[in-house]
Amino acid sequence: MLYCHGCAERHDEKEPIWRCRCGGFLIHGFEVTPSIEPVSLRHRSSGWWRYREALPLSDERHITSLGETATEMRSGTIAGERVTFKLEGQCPTGSFKDRGSFLMISKFREWGLREIVEDSSGNAGASVAAYCRAAGITARIYAPSYTPSVKIANIARYEPEITLVEGTREDTALQAEQAGQESYYASHNWNPYFTAGVKTLAYEIWEQMDFRVPQQVVVPVGGGSSLLGLYYGFKELRDSGRIDTMPRLIGVQAEACEPLTAAFLRGDRSVRPAVKGPTMAEGIVIADPPKGSAILEAIYASGGLCLSVSEEEISQSIAGLCEQSLAVEPTSAVAAAGYRKGVALGMMAPEATVIVLTGKSKK
Ligand SMILES: *Cc1c(COP(=O)(O)O)cnc(C)c1O
Ligand SMILES: [Zn+2]
Repeated sequence: MLYCHGCAERHDEKEPIWRCRCGGFLIHGFEVTPSIEPVSLRHRSSGWWRYREALPLSDERHITSLGETATEMRSGTIAGERVTFKLEGQCPTGSFKDRGSFLMISKFREWGLREIVEDSSGNAGASVAAYCRAAGITARIYAPSYTPSVKIANIARYEPEITLVEGTREDTALQAEQAGQESYYASHNWNPYFTAGVKTLAYEIWEQMDFRVPQQVVVPVGGGSSLLGLYYGFKELRDSGRIDTMPRLIGVQAEACEPLTAAFLRGDRSVRPAVKGPTMAEGIVIADPPKGSAILEAIYASGGLCLSVSEEEISQSIAGLCEQSLAVEPTSAVAAAGYRKGVALGMMAPEATVIVLTGKSKK
């Protein structure tokens, strides 16, 4: 079922909607908490459909795949502490966004959509375009006209229709939303199935750690699909009795755009739009994340926290990762920088930590 986080209204899953009548965002939830038997995984092929009990798709013929496999978990160090990196750059188009696109676009096939509109200048645009192409769905990707051409080229290789919009990032979102009235507005920052697809990240960590979970998971956070996917996945594992306690979820932002850190520090349950400054962590520059209140709820409920890092700290962290042969994009290095800072300031314990390296370097 889909329910609205704002007014709690329930919505039919057969209806292609992207938000509630009241303007609130939607969350997918099962009537009965899904439960995956570890033994049942032994005989399943690799790919994210192995966690099928947790994926809201009624017919596996609609699955759209680009040949996903489990991404590697590799041990390494940050400031002398041992951590485990989850290498999401190994996803088919180079970022964890594929987990969301995989389920969202499979759902679009189930709904029979022929055409969708999405706004993104980065990894989500590339990922949605790639899965749409595999599904035979026309993707119209809207991006701000100031987007660097290398980023547009990264999306263009999957052959969507690209529209460049004059004005701000917010103007692009508005135009995409209007264009979506003719077809379907497939915003990854709003879509409940995108977030549900990212639950596979939680299930995969659980399986790879021999059906245990770490004490904390650190992720860069912008629109929150990775943090929320992790939260809903771990919550299902706990509610179904597979694990006793959930990992603390640590969200890291760039100081240049930190609406979630600011709300967390105020102890608030909702976000106020932030003022944006320049940052190399382009993937998390979202001044007013639509699901802000759910992200904060997930952080509080898991006993986690939200903190921000400076450009200097991001640069240092890129260098530290490079020394370990981990070539990630600056946005991903934010998580490692947050871990280093959080441990140094005594905000979090160093032990049993998974750092999600969300996307690989494009250079
Ligand atoms: C999108 C993205 C993020 C931020 O994820 P959200 O789900 O928006 O919080 C982080 N890192 C990379 C590489 C991304 O592409
Ligand atoms: Zn509502």
